[in-house]
Amino acid sequence: MTTISTTSCTASSENPDRNCPLCPRLAGFRADARAREPDWFNAPVPSFGDPLGRLLIVGLAPGMQGANRTGRPFTGDYAGDLLYATLLEYGFATGAYQARPDDGLRLFDCRISNAVRCVPPQNKPLPVEINSCRPFLSATIAAMPQLRAIVALGRVAHESTLKALGIRSSAAPFSHGAVHDAGAVQLHDSYHCSRYNTNTRVLTPEMFRSVFARVRADLG
Ligand code: SF4
Repeated sequence: MTTISTTSCTASSENPDRNCPLCPRLAGFRADARAREPDWFNAPVPSFGDPLGRLLIVGLAPGMQGANRTGRPFTGDYAGDLLYATLLEYGFATGAYQARPDDGLRLFDCRISNAVRCVPPQNKPLPVEINSCRPFLSATIAAMPQLRAIVALGRVAHESTLKALGIRSSAAPFSHGAVHDAGAVQLHDSYHCSRYNTNTRVLTPEMFRSVFARVRADLG
C-alpha cells in the first residue's frame, strides 16, 4: 500500500446540465445519438447510489448501448453484468440486477459514478474532455461525507480520481489490486470490467472479486 497526501476537492456542482456544452466533440456526438435514438437517455449520466455511502466506484464513461441508453451507470451492457453481480455478492447492492434502470436494484453503502459523464466515441474520451468533466467528479467525491474507499475502474478513472483528490500520479501508480492510502480514503485500483478486458482475460471475475473482497474486509 502506498501512502499519499491529499488536498481537498473544491468543485461546486456534481450534476452537469443535460446539455452541458463543455466538450464540443462529446456534445456533438450526444446530439447525433439523440437524433438517431430519441428514446435513449443521451445525456450526462448522473451518479447512482447512496451519497452517504462509504464506497464510491469510478468508471470511465457511459457506454453507448449501456448507461447512455438507460441513464444509469453500468446498466445495459456487459460491464454492468460483472459489476452488479460482484456488488451483490459483497453486500454493496440489494435486489436483482436486470439491466434496466427500473429493475429495483439498490446500492447499499455505495455509489457509482464516471470520470466522464457523456458517452465518448469508441469509449475513448480525450484528455481535455477528462479534464473538463473532472469538476463533476470532484464535486461527487466532496458530496460524500462518509467516503472511505474509492474503486477506480481502469487507468483513466484512476488518474482522474487522483487529480480530483489532489494527488500526484507518481505518488500512486495504477496497478490492478493496488491500494493507495490517501488519508481518510483508500483508493483501490482495478482493471475496468469491460467485455474486452474479460474476453482477453486481462481481468477475470476472480481478479475483480478480489478487489471487492479487500474493500469489504477494510470497511467491515
Ligand atoms: S463529458 Fe462532462 S464536461 Fe464534457 S460535456 Fe459531458 S458532462 Fe460536460
